[in-house]
Order: sequence, then C-alpha cells, then structure tokens
Amino acid sequence: MQGQRPDRRMTVSVMSSARVLIIEDDIKVAGAVRSGLAAEGYDAVVSRTGEDGYFRATTEPFDAILLDVGLPERDGLSILSGLRSQGFTTPVLILTARDAVEDRVTGLDAGADDYLVKPFAFAELLARLRVLLRRGRPEEALRVRIADLEVDPVAHSVQRAGRPVELTAREFDLLAYLVRHQGHVVSREMLAQDVWHEPSRGTPLDNVIDVHLARLRKKVDQDHGVRLIHTIRGVGFVVREGEPG
Ligand code: CA
Repeated sequence: MQGQRPDRRMTVSVMSSARVLIIEDDIKVAGAVRSGLAAEGYDAVVSRTGEDGYFRATTEPFDAILLDVGLPERDGLSILSGLRSQGFTTPVLILTARDAVEDRVTGLDAGADDYLVKPFAFAELLARLRVLLRRGRPEEALRVRIADLEVDPVAHSVQRAGRPVELTAREFDLLAYLVRHQGHVVSREMLAQDVWHEPSRGTPLDNVIDVHLARLRKKVDQDHGVRLIHTIRGVGFVVREGEPG
C-alpha cells in the first residue's frame, strides 16, 4: 500500500484508515499497540529510535503520533519540540512512565495534545486517539466505504444503503478489518492474529471465525442485491463489490 498513494485525499476517503506513527523503543509495547491499531482499521507504523521517528514524522504524512519519552538517540520531548518548532501540527499523544510527572508537564508545554501513563489499557489508548483524530480532522474523512456500505471507526457504527446495521463489538472489528483490506483476500490466520489477538489459529478458532463471518454476512448482505462479503474456498474471505473472479 505504501508508495502507491498518488492522491492523499483519495486514500483518506476511500481507505479511511488514519495513519498513526508509533515512536516507541519497547518492542513488546510497540508491537502490541501496532497490531491492536491495525485490527481497529488504522494504518499503524512503528519507529524504534528517536532519530528514525523524527525523520519519519517530518517526511511522511501521519494523522497522529504516539510518542514515547525515553528513546534511544533522541528523546521524545526533543522530537516534540522539534516538530512544533518546524510548524508540524500533527496531534501527539505522549506515553510516559508512571512517576514522570514532570515529563507530562513538559510534554504538554512542548505541544503534546495529551498523554497516557504506562502501563495503559489498550482501550484507553484507543479512546484518547479517537479524540485526537476527531480534533485533527473532520469525522467524515475517517469513514470507510465500499459500495453502499459505510463503516465509521470513530462512532463505531455501520450503515448499509443509509440504514444502520447493528453489530456486536467483534462483528464490528471483523467488518472494519475486512473493509480496510477491501479487494484483498484476508486469511483466517490474519483474522486470528489481528482481530482475535490469538498468536496462532486452530480448528476451534476457525469455527468461531466462520460463525462470526456467517452472522456478519447475514447482517450486512442479506436483503441487498449486491453481496459484499465473499468466501474464497480454502483461502479466506474478501470484501469487494461483485463476485470474486
Ligand atoms: Ca522507552
């Protein structure tokens, strides 16, 4: 997907996914946040050093930055003040250690939009991020569409042909993931990892995935002339307009 973004606005309105830069040297934290965000439909990338993070933040478009304070090469607060002094207004959420009160104060002074104290619950991070994104750009731009289906990751709502579709939290995650990958086949491995957060798939989980898919398909595609969710036998699933070839 990288490299083929000739028109940024096009990317935003069609693919929705807000692009988030995670600057964090702790591999575990960075990996968990990245895959959690990916499962929510965000396009999340990780930078593990201060210099790399600063470079990417100043050379690539991002909708928000999650910024650790203690980083190798260049610390988070220096990155932040560097960005702000260069005129970058990208929303920044600082991740600080539990006791570092002064980091939070300095961070907010240096132009951070919010901060989160480690260890944090992923749901909390998600909620804060949504607020930042809502502030940073019109809500409209975050929605993902395919045909007459619209998925709104901010409001956590789905509409088909202008009518609301009621989904459970898991069904929503599943649909958001499929829609984000629209046109590309999503395997059960991917769903196990990114939506169910299980390290590996197995027959019981495959069955759970299939049951959720069947329910989702019923809610999304039933009563509509055009089917959007398709099964690719032996491979996985794909969301697309029209039957897969
Ligand atoms: Ca760190």
